[in-house]
Amino acid sequence: MNPNNSLKITSIELFKLNIPFKFPFKISLGISYEANNILVRINTDKDIYGLGEACSSSRITGDTQSTSFEAGKHIAKAIKGKDPLAIEARMRDINQAIKRNTQIKSAYNLALYDIIGKYTELPLYKVLGGEKRDIFTDYSIGIQENLEVAIKKVKEVMDMGFSTIKLKVGLDKDLDIGLIKRIREEISKTISIRIDANQGWDFSTAVQVLKAMEPYNLEYAEQPLPFWDYENMARLRKTGLAPICADESVFDHHDAFKLASMGACDYLNIKLGKSGGISTALKINAIALSCGIKCMIGCFGESRLGLTAGAHLVSACPNIVFVDLDAALMLAEDPVIGGIRYDVKSNGKIIIPDTPGHGADIKEDILEELESFII
Ligand SMILES: [Mg+2]
Repeated sequence: MNPNNSLKITSIELFKLNIPFKFPFKISLGISYEANNILVRINTDKDIYGLGEACSSSRITGDTQSTSFEAGKHIAKAIKGKDPLAIEARMRDINQAIKRNTQIKSAYNLALYDIIGKYTELPLYKVLGGEKRDIFTDYSIGIQENLEVAIKKVKEVMDMGFSTIKLKVGLDKDLDIGLIKRIREEISKTISIRIDANQGWDFSTAVQVLKAMEPYNLEYAEQPLPFWDYENMARLRKTGLAPICADESVFDHHDAFKLASMGACDYLNIKLGKSGGISTALKINAIALSCGIKCMIGCFGESRLGLTAGAHLVSACPNIVFVDLDAALMLAEDPVIGGIRYDVKSNGKIIIPDTPGHGADIKEDILEELESFII
């Protein structure tokens, strides 16, 4: 270990990583065919580097792969030569260098946490003060072309071994209501069902749909209304038709505080790509804890690398009780060595590695082929 307890960032590499989805993934905001991700590798003056990943999600965060790549170059200049172990100080540099751009900030933040884990020779969940616990992911089902196709898909997912499904809704309310009704009447009375409208409804539509679904025991309704409409989220929650989970409405701890103060949600969906990484995710969770609100962790189209960091965070935060870290199961390729493994048959169990840092790496031959930048 370095006697000065510091390291120095000697170079930073950025990579564009594109991975096709196994099938088009449709939500009320649009259809995705491919994950367009960014990798950040932070190299240090010791034999330690950190890796982070983010998925551009232009419809939600406003970041594309190209804008993240350019912002990543800009951020690199702000932290090169500095100590990567001083994570809060480096995040201050990063946040001062550029506003928003939460996806690339998350990739940087995960790389910094990877370094501190490797330096202390601890797995990330222990760096975060956590204790390993069993965690289980749900499986998300995109909006399907009709009811029959949707029912078939639900059966397939249940046959895979999942006991919790997250259904994307918000485009056709009759299809949405019909699907929930058929699942409960014909497939399972006990499977946990979460729905996510991705801002697809206005207040009156949300009331109408949730009223029709009320007999069918939804676990919660995620982001039923536009991200900015905190007032109507609070009104909707007061109807008691379903617990409300905020997703696109909450990026950081400031959003979390406002939502909680207004009584606008029952749950907060943390995504590292929205919060800019683990540092701010912890702050959101702290706000939630102080208000008695439980959290969920979600994802975009990250490979197992980004998802592994999220799983470590869950292990360190017992207040994160809902887990939606399923993106890697939908990607056609797996470029990752190490990292989390899935035991899908056991209710989507996620097994977290005990290797130092987050424990995930990218296959070297894949990195060599990617468009990259180094400073
Ligand atoms: Mg969502």
